[in-house]
Order: sequence, then C-alpha cells, then structure tokens
Amino acid sequence: MILKVKRASICGTDLHIYRWDEWISQSMGIPRIIGHEVAGEIVELGKNVKGYKRGDIVSVETHFVCHTCAACRKGFFKVCYNMKILGIDLDGAFAEYVKVPAFNLWKNEIDLPEEVLSIKEPFGNAVDTVLTEDVSGKSVLITGAGPLGMMAILLAKHSGAYPVFVSEVKDYRINKAKELGADYVINPLKEDLYEIIMEKTKGEGVDALLEMSGNEKALEEGLKCTAPNGRVSLLGLFEGKVNVDLNNLIILKNLRVYGITGREMFSTWYKIDKLLESGLELKKVITHSFKMEEINKAMELMEKGECGKISLIPF
Ligand code: NAD
Repeated sequence: MILKVKRASICGTDLHIYRWDEWISQSMGIPRIIGHEVAGEIVELGKNVKGYKRGDIVSVETHFVCHTCAACRKGFFKVCYNMKILGIDLDGAFAEYVKVPAFNLWKNEIDLPEEVLSIKEPFGNAVDTVLTEDVSGKSVLITGAGPLGMMAILLAKHSGAYPVFVSEVKDYRINKAKELGADYVINPLKEDLYEIIMEKTKGEGVDALLEMSGNEKALEEGLKCTAPNGRVSLLGLFEGKVNVDLNNLIILKNLRVYGITGREMFSTWYKIDKLLESGLELKKVITHSFKMEEINKAMELMEKGECGKISLIPF
C-alpha cells in the first residue's frame, strides 16, 4: 500500500540514527529514509487488498513480520524472528510517500487530530508497559519522563493508579510530568527518591515500577523502591550491559519482571482506540510541530530533552 504521509513523529531511535551512535550503526544499513511513526492517507492499494479504499486515513504498526516463523505461528508477532522495521530495515516515513504492507495498517475510525494518529504506535509501547498488569488502585513509579514516560503518566492516571511517582532529571520534563498529572515528581539528583517513596507509601514501596529511562541508576533506584512481590515492566533500552544486584533487588523480593518490546499485534491497537475514545488526552504529550525540513531543530531539542513528542509536517 502507498500512503501519502500526513504526519510523522520522531522516536528516540531516530535520534540514535541522527547521532549515528555505535548501537545503531551496527544495526542498520545506509542509505535509508528514516522515520517510522506515521499517519497517512492511502493513495494506492495493493492487488487483492480488501477492507481499505483510497482516501482512508491510517496509522501504521511499524514492525513488519514474516507470518511463517515459530513466533508468528504462535501469535507472538512482536518477537517475529525475521522482523523488519520501517525506517530502519526499509525506507521509512520522513518522506512524502511511504510503502507498507496492508497487514500493518490501522484504520482510524475515531475522530482525532492527525498528529495524534502518528503517535498511536509509541503509545502502544506505553500501553503494554503500564498495563502489563492492572494498575487501578496501585502505586506506580515511572522512571524517566521522556515522551514515553509522559504517555505512561497519562495512562496510569487514566487507569486509576495512585499515587503516580515520577523520577526525572531534566527540568523541562519534570515540569511536563507535573502538568500531566503525576502526583509526585522527584529529581533523584537533588532529592532522595527512596526516602520520599518510602515515606509516601508508609514504608511499603510502590506496587509497580515502570522503567522508561534506559538509565542504569534509575533502574537500580526503581528496584529499591519497589515493594516485595511487586511488578516491574522494563521498556527503556540501556546503553550496554547492566549491573544490578539481582539477589537483593529482584529474587529475594519475589518481583515479577517483564521485558516490553513493541506492541501486541493487534490487541494493543484495539486498547489504544478505546483509551483515546474514553478521553485520554494523548495530544498533551506533543509539545512541538515542525516542518520536515526543520528536522535539525527538532533533533536539537530532543538532544537537550527540552520537548515531549515532536510531530513533523511533510514537505
Ligand atoms: P527519552 O530518552 O526521551 O527519555 C528518557 C528519560 O529518562 C529522559 O527524559 C531522561 O532525562 C530520563 N532519565 C535519565 N536518567 C534518569 C535517571 N537517573 N532517573 C530518572 N530519569 C532519568 O526516551 P523515550 O523516547 O521517552 O523512550 C523511553 C525509553 O524507551 C528509551 O530508553 C527508549 O530507547 C526505549 N524504547 C524502548 C522500546 C521498546 O520496544 N522496548 C521502544 C521505544 C523506546
């Protein structure tokens, strides 16, 4: 299917590509058109494709799967052995047009602004992280209030978590976390995160740790703050190997630890629409919009951490 790009948004992975750091330069080839968070209008349909027409506005599940490996055959598409990722393994969406398989389209039937449609994909990561287990009436700690942590704050509050603690080190994001409704926002470089959480939870710790920073220190502190028998969902990707006291921080506390990658295909997409329809104001995490040719400005803001999600308007 060929889509005319309506909006694309910038993911942290795009920043890695922009910097061309060691991790990304070893995992992708160039030249490549980057960008994978996208909403577009169908302008050309593949042969035999049913259920869509020209003019439909769609979002895109950016993990293209093989349908034949053992993971796919068991229904675990998000860990397909032969996964190809839009904008990394195949030309992506920071362009006028983008080509995607019909299987990966998500038809948008609820009325939402185009910039929100392109961030359904990363929101799916936040949904799978926050809702790995029920959070209603539970205390949570979100480590890292980048765009994904911001989405997690909105979702945790929307889903009845209380209190929602957030740890973040950048001023812009500390302020944004407060604005999005976090109950306590703590800068661990200036305050004692563990002391504050223990005081507010009457010495128990939080029921769930949602690790969304990819920072080793944040993970260690988060695990310390998690109550025995608590739940940990790990979304953040770390720069390298992580040194954590597994015995004392996980095993002897009887924690349940989940690794989170991508989104469930497509049960999470159904949840996303219901959450947005029920009033979750995802637009609040979009702090800037730029024309695509201004991408350098956008990357500078991301580098400084002075933004939430940045939306790009095509040429
Ligand atoms: P981001 O880098 O914009 O946000 C991370 C935030 O963590 C930043 O605001 C940073 O200031 C904060 N932080 C750093 N050190 C901290 C500390 N010690 N304590 C508290 N906060 C700290 O990233 P994002 O786009 O919001 O994504 C969140 C994470 O999820 C990243 O690590 C990203 O690579 C990862 N990710 C994973 C998947 C997946 O499928 N598993 C998909 C997308 C993104």
